[in-house]
Amino acid sequence: MTETFQQILEKDQLSKEDIIRLLQSAKEDEKALFAKSSDVKLKHIGQNVHFRGLIEFSNICKKDCLYCGIRASNGKVNRYDIADEQILKAANFAYQHKYGSLVLQSGERTDPVFVDRIENLLHEIKKLSNNELGITISLGEQKRETYQKWFDAGAHRYLLRIESSNAELYEKIHPKNQNHSHSTRLKCLQYLKQIGYQTGTGVMIGLPFQTYEDLANDILFMKGFDIDMVGMGPFIEHDQTPLYQYKDQLMSLSDRFRLSLKMIAVLRIVMKDINIAAATALQAIDPLGREKALRIGANIIMPNITPTLERANYLLYQNKPCIDEGAEDCTNCMEARINMADGKIAYGEWGDSQHFKKRVK
Ligand code: SAH
Ligand code: SF4
Repeated sequence: MTETFQQILEKDQLSKEDIIRLLQSAKEDEKALFAKSSDVKLKHIGQNVHFRGLIEFSNICKKDCLYCGIRASNGKVNRYDIADEQILKAANFAYQHKYGSLVLQSGERTDPVFVDRIENLLHEIKKLSNNELGITISLGEQKRETYQKWFDAGAHRYLLRIESSNAELYEKIHPKNQNHSHSTRLKCLQYLKQIGYQTGTGVMIGLPFQTYEDLANDILFMKGFDIDMVGMGPFIEHDQTPLYQYKDQLMSLSDRFRLSLKMIAVLRIVMKDINIAAATALQAIDPLGREKALRIGANIIMPNITPTLERANYLLYQNKPCIDEGAEDCTNCMEARINMADGKIAYGEWGDSQHFKKRVK
């Protein structure tokens, strides 16, 4: 006899088939899934929501990912690189407003000037915040020595999305050259973990050619890799990228949104104590997208504190929210929204992954 949806939800271990069933749940079953994931979150994480002030400091990128609006081959992008002084000002804003942590993100560069500059910035951020700000970086694939250098300079979390755990699908969404290889990405994730970073990954949801089985495998990959943090969200097509040609084969945006929420819910049930971010891309589809994610399982939010002038140029996907607001507006807006989602902002704390703490004990 086949199990009921509720019976699957009550299992201790979910198989790939169970996960597929949960991801394919009909509208009437979604409620039960979200109630369960919300319970798991409250039990293992509590109501606390931690901030990561996000500084997208440069859109210069040497990579050419076929989905991304700031890929090197997109000649229509105004390239920018925010001066160190401005980055430090934004970091100071996060410190003064008790955000607890920040994320430095940019396009991928591996040249020595860049590597040294990041090292210096990390030292400066630690200094200006009396060692109090936690720092996550998300700067793509690097040499092991580079990851080590940045770790030694004070970064303690790293976000590198696997994009898809299916190597064949990964190849379809990246150019066919050595610069874009699934095995390198995996190796980088291993380096990060070995060095001692709290290691974060994630995938895009609703990619062309992606199946429910791929997504179930993504969740099992995160579990198998014993990841500490996850940021995942819907794929949103960008008309200046090669993947745009498949736009008619994609799920509707609202279906991608629902599926992203289900991915977060299932992941929360499978990995009870990791940090899960409510991705900004959710908000590009639904104005309350991130708050909905917090309610059903996410516990991290990344308010954008990039100096306003450059926000409109960091468009990985279209319809990106909050590109006109300043950081001050974001804080106020965020507080109201999180209260609405029954969350409590934990100001001034790092909000490390509890999973990581147990893993390295
Ligand atoms: N260059 C770094 C960090 C910036 S890109 C890196 O690639 O890791 C950060 C994330 O944006 C990527 O991992 C990818 O998952 C996401 N992204 C890029 N283009 C996107 C799109 N069109 N829709 C949704 N997410 C996208
Ligand atoms: Fe560059 Fe990251 Fe975009 Fe790829 S996803 S093109 S590495 S910014």
